[in-house]
Amino acid sequence: MTSSQNVIIVGGSYAGHTLANSLIPTLPKSHRILLVDALEFSFFPIASLRAAVVPGWEEKITVPLTTDRVFPKGSKHQVIAPNKVLELRENSIILEHPFEGSAEVPFFKCVLATGSTQPSPMRPSGEWSEQEYHNALKKNQEELSKAQNVVIVGGGTVGVEFAGEVRARFPKVSITIVHTDTSLLSPTPLKSETKTKQTATYTSPPTYPKLSIALEKLARKLNINLIFHDRVAVPKLGSISPDSSDWDGSFGLQSAEKVVSLESGKTLKADYVFLSTGNTPNSSIAKNADVEAITSGLVAVDEYLRVSSSNAQSPLVKNYYAIGDVSASPGMKTGWTAMLSAKAAAVNLVNEIAKKPLVKYDPGRFTGLFVPVGPEYGAGSITIPYMGTWIAGSGMVKMAKGKTLLIDKGYVPMWMGETKVDIKV
Ligand SMILES: Cc1cc2nc3c(=O)[nH]c(=O)nc-3n(C[C@H](O)[C@H](O)[C@H](O)COP(=O)(O)OP(=O)(O)OC[C@H]3O[C@@H](n4cnc5c(N)ncnc54)[C@H](O)[C@@H]3O)c2cc1C
Repeated sequence: MTSSQNVIIVGGSYAGHTLANSLIPTLPKSHRILLVDALEFSFFPIASLRAAVVPGWEEKITVPLTTDRVFPKGSKHQVIAPNKVLELRENSIILEHPFEGSAEVPFFKCVLATGSTQPSPMRPSGEWSEQEYHNALKKNQEELSKAQNVVIVGGGTVGVEFAGEVRARFPKVSITIVHTDTSLLSPTPLKSETKTKQTATYTSPPTYPKLSIALEKLARKLNINLIFHDRVAVPKLGSISPDSSDWDGSFGLQSAEKVVSLESGKTLKADYVFLSTGNTPNSSIAKNADVEAITSGLVAVDEYLRVSSSNAQSPLVKNYYAIGDVSASPGMKTGWTAMLSAKAAAVNLVNEIAKKPLVKYDPGRFTGLFVPVGPEYGAGSITIPYMGTWIAGSGMVKMAKGKTLLIDKGYVPMWMGETKVDIKV
């Protein structure tokens, strides 16, 4: 094998793992896949909120990231993990630790699937072992069992799902969600003046208003307090003494009951504060290679998912693709879209080898958003082009997603290796 036959995938989560799975049956035998991840394990963010609340679930959302679990027996493809990609060059990457005797690994093509970061417990810190992530989730479960007044900052899908998990485990705890929009999720479209060409591919479209209303009704039924059109004034960590009666900006269980201030002047009492205020794309390695390949914090791509840049000398434009949460490709930043972009990139990588024309990426206009509110309740919307949008109620959301959070249908089947992954949910 010559080095130019490596197809390197940076990031072994939803997008990267799906890409590897799509390439296993289609990549010519002359080429091999190297799936690199900074973590020694894979985790399933879709179920991380339940794992942050319900004891035992921490074991269900992670799997060691190893070649024998990812690739079929006898394959020459390899997982390289834990190993962080530090630098991107035109025809090679630089790893933190050597692989096959060298930290520099050359490639035919390299795909960036480095996703995004959110603080624990939603996602692990980039340096953690699997055990350290389990410990952090268990610590959060224990902290919650001591809380009486939970304040959730942000009423997007993460805030709503977390509230539902807390309510299912703790029927009597007071839960309050503070949200800037007029209802849960994002029913208000972006103002036209802020809708630039750049944000068009980055910002999720507004939520179907009837879905927000359905979730709002459900939250009230579950005795979850809702404050809209307001914002928690989140203090900079260190700016308020931990001994003060005012909340100091820290996540999780507080040392005593604290006062949380809202921008309207209202105040809330809290002994546990959950912050769910969005994702940060992991685009710094691309930015370091070429700042002009970054748009709205994401890696810019053309219609074929190849990295694009206004810099003609960019080391990224000839041989790199970007998919999933880190890519400025169209569509919402979800696991579903990450899978679609991974499958499209797989087709184009094989076409590049066969010297066939590339295929334009189109995520389609079918959208579905199912929001579980604990294992029993939830609401969702399904949009089918030219036909309309439907609202799904608790029964359907529970059956399709809420009970198992897709671990059985979406996570376990991803693992194609000879060492089987078996998770009971
Ligand atoms: C709490 C929560 C709930 C969610 N619920 C849903 C849901 O219900 N439905 C849905 O469709 N989506 C959901 N999402 C979104 C979904 O999880 C993401 O869209 C999806 O994980 C994106 O996949 P990705 O592979 O692009 O990136 P990620 O999952 O972020 O993975 C990126 C990977 O790249 C690795 N990496 C990063 N930098 C480097 C580097 N320099 N070197 C090596 N490796 C690196 C990371 O370790 C990581 O494993 C949820 C997300 C969260 C946080």
